[in-house]
Amino acid sequence: MKFLPIFLNIKDQPCLVIGAGQVAARKIFMLIRANGKVTVISPELSSEIAKLAEQGEINYIKAEFKSGDVSDYCVVIAATNSRSVNQRVYEEASAKNIPVNVVDTPEFCTFITPSVIDRDPVQIAISTGGSSPVLARLLRSKLETFIPAAYGRLGQLVESYRDRVKEIFSHNSNHIRGFWEQVLDGSIADMLISGKDADAKKALEEAVKAAKVPEDIGEVYLVGAGPGDPDLLTFRALRLMQRADVVVYDRLVSAEILEMVRRDAEFVYVGKARNKHAVKQENINELLVRFAKEGKKVLRLKGGDPFIFGRGGEEIETLMEQEVSFQVVPGITAAAGCAAYAGIPLTHRDYVQSCTFVTGHLKDGTVNLNWSALAHKGQTIVFYMGLHGVKEICKQLVAHGLDSLTPAALVEKGTTPQQQVHIGNLETLPNIVDTTEILPPTLIIVGDVVELHNKLAWFEPSGAKPLAYPVSN
Ligand code: SAH
Repeated sequence: MKFLPIFLNIKDQPCLVIGAGQVAARKIFMLIRANGKVTVISPELSSEIAKLAEQGEINYIKAEFKSGDVSDYCVVIAATNSRSVNQRVYEEASAKNIPVNVVDTPEFCTFITPSVIDRDPVQIAISTGGSSPVLARLLRSKLETFIPAAYGRLGQLVESYRDRVKEIFSHNSNHIRGFWEQVLDGSIADMLISGKDADAKKALEEAVKAAKVPEDIGEVYLVGAGPGDPDLLTFRALRLMQRADVVVYDRLVSAEILEMVRRDAEFVYVGKARNKHAVKQENINELLVRFAKEGKKVLRLKGGDPFIFGRGGEEIETLMEQEVSFQVVPGITAAAGCAAYAGIPLTHRDYVQSCTFVTGHLKDGTVNLNWSALAHKGQTIVFYMGLHGVKEICKQLVAHGLDSLTPAALVEKGTTPQQQVHIGNLETLPNIVDTTEILPPTLIIVGDVVELHNKLAWFEPSGAKPLAYPVSN
């Protein structure tokens, strides 16, 4: 080990920073966050640091660094652009055994500052021993995605019960550890992470009183998986996908995304094809309840966002009635994903003032919509499930007053390597659909913003074949 990893308590301790540029500012902020009393010595200072001085957050000394300045400080950081000044700071501080760090100059450091993932009071420090700060930063960004922001709150909650738990278990370290392991890896932590702080606190209070963590209960995660590209998943979606015991999914969720679900989870396909309900909605609802009541973590994975044409509301209504605990994770809805990847901004100040999402699903061969409200200039209309109704949609919009030359796009398999964008207008789009082989899912965007595609298209789908779909049962 090249360095000893330690966390230094600098609360109310005098800390010195020489230099007051941008790099110094990062270090000053770090010292302030750890409650150090910071003095800054520099002939000039950046506006950011000037503000700190004005607010009384730091003690600013307008001067060049001189001999003797480092005395009486518990830690010294130099961030000037003069190597000779930096070297003098290092020599003087190290001669006095004061920990010193010269930014980006390992040979003038008796300590180095790690890359930090801050979930105060939880902190994860990463160091490459000074060999590559960039590598440390990369590692940090990878870890950031896996550690929920709520770990800070979790740390605080646990901290407030530490002493009581020790007493309850008569300082028996095995029992204490066992208790905390169940709390931190179980439903109490889950509640807090999903934003149910009051419930988590109550459950912990009860567990402490009973000196026992209740059995892990089942829960449903209603998760939006986005439009197809796995990179568009949220951090929370990914974390819950890796916790699930069973996943209930339908056709809209891409195989690439299913690949990311915990390997040993049970996979249950409940997909619906058009006009062909593979599993009835009531049965899906019942299935979720049954799995959760068996104590399982049930991942209900939905394409796009669960609350946009996703029947998420119906599913959680049943869960509510059955008192099954659940959480909802929003996803990028097809309209947002397809528009972005097709280079069609859904709103644009020069073109439209509003944007409407509607379903173009045919019921008895007709699309039941308030056409006169939809058919006016100045808005973008996005049709979900509109492929089979495209003729009717275009006809009705024109019949209710839209110009037949209004641009319209059909985005096929948006955000995936097989994405295709078919551009036409209300007159030509039905014919394009008739004469082209088009694969679902597709989204129709109508409005002047569609023209922007010619200028703004940026995504170049690789055309790679989709992964084979996993076995359904
Ligand atoms: N909850 C989903 C929508 C479900 S309805 C969401 O928020 O996106 C299903 C419809 O979504 C499809 O018929 C299609 O119109 C649209 N859709 C979903 N993913 C799509 C994709 N990758 N490309 C084009 N359209 C998509």
